[in-house]
Amino acid sequence: MAREQILVVEDEEDILELIMYNLSKEGYRPVGVTNGQEALTKARMSTPDMVILDIMLPDFDGLEICKLLKKDAKTQHIPVIMLTAKGEEADIVTGLEVGADDYMVKPFSPRVLVARLRAILRRKTREPVSEDQTIAIREFLIHPGRHEVALDGKKVNLTFTEFRVLHFLASRPGWAFSRYQIVDAVRGDNYPVTDRSVDVLIVGLRKKLGKYGKYIETVRGVGYRFKED
Ligand code: CA
Repeated sequence: MAREQILVVEDEEDILELIMYNLSKEGYRPVGVTNGQEALTKARMSTPDMVILDIMLPDFDGLEICKLLKKDAKTQHIPVIMLTAKGEEADIVTGLEVGADDYMVKPFSPRVLVARLRAILRRKTREPVSEDQTIAIREFLIHPGRHEVALDGKKVNLTFTEFRVLHFLASRPGWAFSRYQIVDAVRGDNYPVTDRSVDVLIVGLRKKLGKYGKYIETVRGVGYRFKED
C-alpha cells in the first residue's frame, strides 16, 4: 500500500542492507547510497518522501548534508531521520537544529526505525487538515480562517507571520519544533523567513501576547513549543 520512496544514506553496507530489507518488507521503495555526494544528487533528482541519513560518511558530514537539504527549496520539505553512533549527543542536538525530524542511535532496531518513519510520514500528510480549524487552547482562540487571535476574549494584533507561527505551534501543543520546521511551516510566498529571524519573531510575538507569552517556550537545543494545556 505504502509506496513512498525512502532515500537511505549509509556507508556501512550491512546496516544499509538491513534498513533496505526492512523498508521493502513494509512496502516502501528504498533507494540506498553510500556517500554524501550521491545522497545530494539523488535527493535533488528524485525528491524522495524521506531521507534516512547517517552522520559519519566517508566524504561528507551527514549534518552538512541535512543542512544543505533544508536550505534547498527543492528538498527542504523532505523529512530527515539522522543515524548517529552511541554517545554522540552533541550530534543529535545539532541534527535537530539543522532541521532533522528525528534521530536513531546505533545500534537500533529496524522495526523501531520503520515505526518512527511511519509516524513522521503520517504527521506530514495529516498537517493540511488542521489548517483551517479554530484552535481553543488556554486563554487563546486562534481563528485561521480570519487570521485572528483573541486572548481572554480580546483581539490581539499580529502580523501575518506572527500569526502563522503562533497557529503552527498551538496546533501541536507540547511538540518541540526546530527553527527550520517553523520556517518551513510559515513560509509565505513573499515573506522571506530565515531560521535566525525565527528567534526575533518569537520575541516580538511573546511581547504582543503579554503575560501569556510565557506559553511559547524555548526548548534548549531544539527550538520552540507551545506549552501543553
Ligand atoms: Ca557511517
